[in-house]
Amino acid sequence: MFGLVDANNFFASCERVFNPKLINKPVVVLSNNDGCIIARSQEAKDLGIKMGEPYFKVEKFLKKHNVFVFSANYPLYGDMSRRIFQILQDHVPDVEIYSIDEAFIDLKNLNFTDLDKFARDLRQKILKWTGIPVSIGIGKTKSLAKLAAETVKKQKIPHGTLILDNDQQITEILKNTLVEDIWGIGRRWAKLLNANFVYTAYDFVSLSDFFIKKKLNINGLKIKYELLGQPVFQMHDLPEAKKSIRRSRSFGHLISQYSDLEEAVANFADSCAAKLRKLNQIANSLMVYIRTDPHRQDLPQYRNSFVYTFKTPTNSSRIFIKAAVQALKNIYKPQYKYRKAGVIALGIEEAKAIQIGIFDQYNKAQEFKLMKALDNIRNKYGRKSIHFATEMGKGNWLPRQHFISRAYTTDWNQLPEVK
Ligand SMILES: [Mg+2]
Repeated sequence: MFGLVDANNFFASCERVFNPKLINKPVVVLSNNDGCIIARSQEAKDLGIKMGEPYFKVEKFLKKHNVFVFSANYPLYGDMSRRIFQILQDHVPDVEIYSIDEAFIDLKNLNFTDLDKFARDLRQKILKWTGIPVSIGIGKTKSLAKLAAETVKKQKIPHGTLILDNDQQITEILKNTLVEDIWGIGRRWAKLLNANFVYTAYDFVSLSDFFIKKKLNINGLKIKYELLGQPVFQMHDLPEAKKSIRRSRSFGHLISQYSDLEEAVANFADSCAAKLRKLNQIANSLMVYIRTDPHRQDLPQYRNSFVYTFKTPTNSSRIFIKAAVQALKNIYKPQYKYRKAGVIALGIEEAKAIQIGIFDQYNKAQEFKLMKALDNIRNKYGRKSIHFATEMGKGNWLPRQHFISRAYTTDWNQLPEVK
């Protein structure tokens, strides 16, 4: 069994923890530069306030309804997130951080007889120790766990947990879930499915394997099996994540050297920033996390994460690497052997035309040109043709790939040669 733990209205809930006068009041949180609404408490949702609404458009409405407005405070949200993940880590053998406020938990090999009670107790503990209400969904697959957690929120189940293990109930929920709300089905796929008269998750799982493989691809088929209760995705294994930009890896060997970890984290940060540039997006924070190997209970266990917030949102690899290294330094402890590290970009928004501000941390126009040049060189000569000093080292963090074939099609240096 897998579980998904998802914090409710996370940013708004974090603001509430330290400000009791916000309890039962509408709260919204704004994006970088107070641009638009990125989080709403339930009361704010009930007022009809929409996600992504530009602040200036609803300012009067918010005032009129006494809505409490906050600028995003990522260091706070990052710290609350770390506390929640820490509690999970203390109660289950494996935790997979999915986003700042969501994590999958592995419920195999646990010593309990009553799963329902276990879930309720876990939720109660998180609420008591952090002040953050969470929804916990449980199912035979990660997709069903995700669906269960969504259902908890949709149906406002008072005790905040749901175990999906009854076929009849699963069918009922699939019939009430739109394809665009299925985990891993993006907007493009949803459109394509709608055009083929497939509207609900139930319609989707009723499709033939052949049809799904032909119209979507093998990933679409994996999602179908998952929804039917056949596990395809294991822990640390995800369908194409659409919402967050993240890079992580389990290392080929356990790593304890700081320099090896730094090299890995720098590579992830560079790769996240490159992805943001490709999508013409910027981020205002990044989270770095590290952990030991949960399967090596003979070794001391440790995991931690740190959120670094940029003064100016960016997609520069250079600035991303600097921030990631800074974050790593805050959490690295030399006495442990690490199995995994990751970098997640947070507070993502569209990159608009460059505006130069007098408070900017760096010269944006110059940074933009530098990154453009970097991307051009890489497009032409391959990802590894040029990198930052921090990224270079012994490569000890790389996965074991003794049997890997060459990147024939994506890297100029590895093109097949004709003699
Ligand atoms: Mg959430």
